[in-house]
Amino acid sequence: MEHVEAYFGYCPECGDDNEHQDCLNVRASHFGCCHLHRLYWLIGLNLFSAWKDEDESIWKANAERLEGYVETKPAYCECESCKAENCERWRRKGELI
Ligand SMILES: [Zn+2]
Ligand SMILES: [Zn+2]
Repeated sequence: MEHVEAYFGYCPECGDDNEHQDCLNVRASHFGCCHLHRLYWLIGLNLFSAWKDEDESIWKANAERLEGYVETKPAYCECESCKAENCERWRRKGELI
């Protein structure tokens, strides 16, 4: 399997096709989502500071958008090197699921 560069998970339906995938913030919470399959997953809290540049109206719009989507478990890269003990992505999968 080819390595998929998607540290925070990717849409289980789209795989490494990023065209419809997005990251939306609701305050300090970061959600990955797929606009095509209407799926979302929680990435984590306050991992990147970009949310601080946004405001209440953006978070409200993002929250409303995600309300119409279904929560899912994201897919993670399963290439041999990511499965190796020292891979950060693979450890992360263990933490999140
Ligand atoms: Zn990989
Ligand atoms: Zn998708």
